[in-house]
Amino acid sequence: MINKVFSAKQLDDKDPLRHVVSQFALPPDTIYLDGNSLGPLPKAAEERARDVVTNQWGKDLIKSWNCHDWIRLPQKVGDKIGALIGAEAGQVVSCDSISINLFKVLSAALNMQPDKKVIATTRDNFPTDIYMVQGLLTLLGDDYSIRYIDEGDIEGQLSDDIAVLMLTQVNFRSGFKLNMETITRQAQKLGILTLWDLAHSAGAFPVELDKCNVDFAVGCTYKYLNGGPGAPAFVYVAQRHQQQYRQPLSGWMGHQSPFAFTPDYEADDSVSQNLCGTPGILSMSVLDAALSVFDDISLKAIDEKSKKLQAFFAAEGKRAGLCDYMDIVSPPIENRGSQVALSHPEAYAICQAWIAKGVIADFRAPNILRIGFAPLYLSFEDIEVAVSKLADIMQKKTYEKAEFQRKQHVT
Ligand SMILES: *Cc1c(COP(=O)(O)O)cnc(C)c1O
Repeated sequence: MINKVFSAKQLDDKDPLRHVVSQFALPPDTIYLDGNSLGPLPKAAEERARDVVTNQWGKDLIKSWNCHDWIRLPQKVGDKIGALIGAEAGQVVSCDSISINLFKVLSAALNMQPDKKVIATTRDNFPTDIYMVQGLLTLLGDDYSIRYIDEGDIEGQLSDDIAVLMLTQVNFRSGFKLNMETITRQAQKLGILTLWDLAHSAGAFPVELDKCNVDFAVGCTYKYLNGGPGAPAFVYVAQRHQQQYRQPLSGWMGHQSPFAFTPDYEADDSVSQNLCGTPGILSMSVLDAALSVFDDISLKAIDEKSKKLQAFFAAEGKRAGLCDYMDIVSPPIENRGSQVALSHPEAYAICQAWIAKGVIADFRAPNILRIGFAPLYLSFEDIEVAVSKLADIMQKKTYEKAEFQRKQHVT
């Protein structure tokens, strides 16, 4: 038996982020290990939702576009997100979903590479990323194609016929984290434009888009950024590309002067060109308030705590004998994002049994129990309790009960 070096309580006492949990409205008796899929509700977001509906919309009506500066909200929120992903102001705007933003960026990037016709990505990228390429290819015709490369050796598979390299920094199943800096450098040596999906990066650990000289990036805000279900996504276009960047969803909000109401489209020369139609002000306001949680916190501190939580989970899991039942299919902690994947043929039912005991994680087909470590509100004691409940489920095979076997729509 392995003895504990530090108890959960000792680790919580030393935790510099311990106070942050008070900024969230979390339900009682719940341990939330799914903030990598839908972050919980920040109290500031709840308050803003009330204010924007009751006061701004309710009382100030259409005047709010000016008096509450709704019209600049996508840029303002974009810059706040930019500060969390290593982007100087003026390069990030908040809009639409990742899927739609991928369409825009991929189209614009291909336009900038008239002599190249290949989009490269990994086969086990998040499906929507691949689906969006497949859909775009139906518009572009047979000259264009998608090329799948293996995430284990990306640099070794790059060649100068690739127009765009589209990668998700953290694999959504395994948590495997790619080296943004070296891959971007190698790609650019071959004249390849890089597009990074930050779905499992933004708000989880430091990202350095400018420093890595990334060309384009997209990400969502309802995971580690706690922006709420279906919160607007974001898109990053490096300053050096903005003059040339042209995306085809040329809606009026991406026009140089939307309120001139001229019949011909003239693209805005900034990242704001990605705005297509009218932004969803209610959800974007909630997101704006949710981001204030990060005001006085460094991503480095978040990353450090995540690694400690993950190490503690591994140590507790070992002590409780979890390794006898499940395999870890994630790389070592240094090489992964803020999550771990355990495999078991009954992973779905195990997840349901865990949820019934107040521990929320999720299942990813075909056999993965996925556990997210969001350091803003998780304590070491939470991890200790969660592991002991999981061990109990495995020992007693509680997951074999019929009620846990029934598949729900969302897993
Ligand atoms: C969550 C996630 C998405 C979601 O895309 P939406 O269009 O915002 O629904 C896309 N890509 C990755 C890698 C994800 O993890």
